[in-house]
Amino acid sequence: MPQTCCFCHAADGQIPGLCDDCHADLIINEHQCARCAVPLPAAARCCGPCLADPPAYDGVIAAHRYATPLNHILNRFKFSGQRHLARTLASMMLDQTPWPQASLYLAVPLHRSRHLERGFNQSDELLRALFAAARQKSTSTTQNATFNQSHHLLRCTQTTAQSGLDKKARQKNIRGAFEIQTPLAPNASVILIDDVMTTGATVSECARVLKQAGAGKVIIWVAARA
Ligand SMILES: [Zn+2]
Ligand SMILES: [Zn+2]
Repeated sequence: MPQTCCFCHAADGQIPGLCDDCHADLIINEHQCARCAVPLPAAARCCGPCLADPPAYDGVIAAHRYATPLNHILNRFKFSGQRHLARTLASMMLDQTPWPQASLYLAVPLHRSRHLERGFNQSDELLRALFAAARQKSTSTTQNATFNQSHHLLRCTQTTAQSGLDKKARQKNIRGAFEIQTPLAPNASVILIDDVMTTGATVSECARVLKQAGAGKVIIWVAARA
């Protein structure tokens, strides 16, 4: 069924729900930190904060920057209940990134009360859409990708909103917010999905808890990097 672009309502193109002009307007995260993928003005291996205080995760896959039109698409997806945009976002992510191999694929969990309020967990929707999009691609590695819903991570406390806090305050705010619900296989390699990464305090705390539970490697995969 033909769809229109979620941003400008022109006919969609290569990506479902996005026209080719808006697709071309997405900002590729060209120069980025090798550890946290923060956009850098020029090629450099690592950003200063990662050198000074390395995060708990091992790397970040973030092909696109959090900029127009992607920021508007993400806001509609997350705050206007437009769950179908998960398919558009997943196609954008896979358009730039080969399927990353791991033993476990997890979504950043929402607290139960936030989940009830929003009606869905945007990271979970993204994870499902990534698997669905991967299966449609014809390469053998993605054909074999199977979605296995597992709730290893649980958000046990509802923290106050992270927006408006600086990095240190965010780290303090999120500390202890996640716990392991079901054990991980020893040395598991984990891909952790989230919609947007800003300071990375949330995903770093998830990675810390996953590693404490025996994960060998934790890679974050996000639709946009601020
Ligand atoms: Zn468009
Ligand atoms: Zn960095």
